Amino acid sequence: MSAEFEMTPPDLGPTGQMRGCNRWMTDRPCGAMANWHVIWDTDMRNGIVCDEHAIEAQRRWVPISVHAFDAPCLIAGSLFVVDENRCVLDDGLGERESVTSAKEPA
Ligand SMILES: [Zn+2]
Ligand SMILES: [Zn+2]
Repeated sequence: MSAEFEMTPPDLGPTGQMRGCNRWMTDRPCGAMANWHVIWDTDMRNGIVCDEHAIEAQRRWVPISVHAFDAPCLIAGSLFVVDENRCVLDDGLGERESVTSAKEPA
């Protein structure tokens, strides 16, 4: 089942210039303009997808979030904020509840 839908994290520089859909199409990624950020689980497995594959993701699976792609989505160390359903840069204040901070040991 996972082989049917295999998404690898995008290999991107910090500027996030490349925004190709990660949806794996047999032997290559879809590559269409990715407008959506999909977060699959609380381990922060995630990927960016085009309009078509954002719809598919929600039809066929149950991601914890599908939200509009924004710059922080692909920046290492940014946080997914559950309440706001978006990614933000980690301001270090620790005031936001996020999946990543929620994972940290108490
Ligand atoms: Zn796609
Ligand atoms: Zn995001």
